[in-house]
Amino acid sequence: MGSQEVSNVDWRGKHVTVAGLGVSGIPAARVLHGLGAVVTVVNDGDDERSRAQAAELEAQGIAVRLGDGDTLPASTELIVTAPGWKPGKPLFAAAAEAGVPVWGDVELAWRLRGQDGREPAPWLAVTGTNGKTTTVRMLASILEAAGLRTAAVGNIGVSLLDAVLGEETYDVLAVELSSYQLHWAPSLRAHSAAVLNLAPDHLDWHGSMEAYAADKGRIYEGNQVACVYNAADPATEDLVREADVEEGCRAIGFTLGTPGPSQLGVVDGILVDRAFVQNRQKQAQELAEVGDVNPPAPHNVANALAAAALARAFGVEPAAVRDGLRNFRPDPHRIEHVADVDGVAYVDDSKATNTHAAEASLAAYDSLVWIAGGLAKGATFDELVTGCAKRLRGVVLIGADRALIREALARHAPEVPVVDLDRTDTGAMSEAVREAARLARPGDTVLMAPACASMDMFVNYNKRGEAFADAVRARAAESV
Ligand code: ADP
Repeated sequence: MGSQEVSNVDWRGKHVTVAGLGVSGIPAARVLHGLGAVVTVVNDGDDERSRAQAAELEAQGIAVRLGDGDTLPASTELIVTAPGWKPGKPLFAAAAEAGVPVWGDVELAWRLRGQDGREPAPWLAVTGTNGKTTTVRMLASILEAAGLRTAAVGNIGVSLLDAVLGEETYDVLAVELSSYQLHWAPSLRAHSAAVLNLAPDHLDWHGSMEAYAADKGRIYEGNQVACVYNAADPATEDLVREADVEEGCRAIGFTLGTPGPSQLGVVDGILVDRAFVQNRQKQAQELAEVGDVNPPAPHNVANALAAAALARAFGVEPAAVRDGLRNFRPDPHRIEHVADVDGVAYVDDSKATNTHAAEASLAAYDSLVWIAGGLAKGATFDELVTGCAKRLRGVVLIGADRALIREALARHAPEVPVVDLDRTDTGAMSEAVREAARLARPGDTVLMAPACASMDMFVNYNKRGEAFADAVRARAAESV
């Protein structure tokens, strides 16, 4: 199927198995049933919640099998799977054996574009280990500033199916894609796409770093105008080289340094474009100032450059890039400045749930007290600690796997004072903030960038960030 061709599959009477009752499975089952398909949902779990969901679907005429997500229902012609289902599951082996294709939620949305006769909106797609949500939101903000009808959708929590089939008509979509979603999206063909960075993550799911990279690299397949890569991360450029793209599609790099031809970069505090200009050997177009990026931390400037590259590939004018970046407000818990207390800045980067993310925010401050720890998910901390040791005023450790970070600190930063909080109850965060305040000097930043998942102490990273912010605000109130 060609890139802009739309599918006009006749779904009536097609036997489709939807794998997984969940945020993607339920809407997929409903949509396919509405199009006339014969839908069976299979689900591993058989708890109270899934029984209630099953009852609702069954009332609409959709069959549901609970407690057995691995038997392929007879006469299945297509499986639509939740993106998180592992490729190694027996259901997929059975599908391969029977020659049944497997699509994920993104593939389904892609195939249903234009089903209702409307001209489908092109997709500007973003993936990467870190920075996806921020970049996609920046991109949507730039596209809006250019007067385009757009939305930030996909892995960001806004359903692609809704975006594709809903009432709203879009000129272009800013789409965040996870590596799982890409794995199950074989025919996706974006207008342009970016891979922001590649660091080991989710390897248990993909099986190996190579498989993870290959799935991320799918985002470039069939791109029409630009494949945007990170010049500081050669693995992303390798993926561009390996991709099969439309004729005329260009490789566009972004860099925090001076850009070469066909790159976007930074010169004297100005974001400049040497890719989408008449004469890229001689010309550079000013887009925005580093100060227009919120917050202007280096990794976030990289995100802004990637968003700008995709927008420019879509033909957006420089002024809209600047206005879109100025209008952009980061989501909570991503390097969020909470308050200044007694000359110390308190910053919540609870979303730094892995070492790669924490590394980026630690690099943004000259002198800091670091609050770290939680569930390490198999990570090691030597590199992270080595990179920031010189700038650490002190460290406060929380959470289940804090010993791993403590040991790395002992190896690489033995001079740095460490407070090890031997408690994992939710109240530990107030104590962590108190200890951090004791270590900090005026002009320092207290940065909560745990480099770990939060679930040992909190429901999720949002709750962890809120606990931090509450504790900081309580201090601020006391110090007035
Ligand atoms: P994702 O959607 O990929 O999880 P987010 O935009 O939500 O990414 O950012 C998650 C965390 O990753 C942020 O809190 C920040 O610490 C870190 N981060 C953001 N952008 C980058 C980047 N370009 N490189 C490395 N780390 C980043």
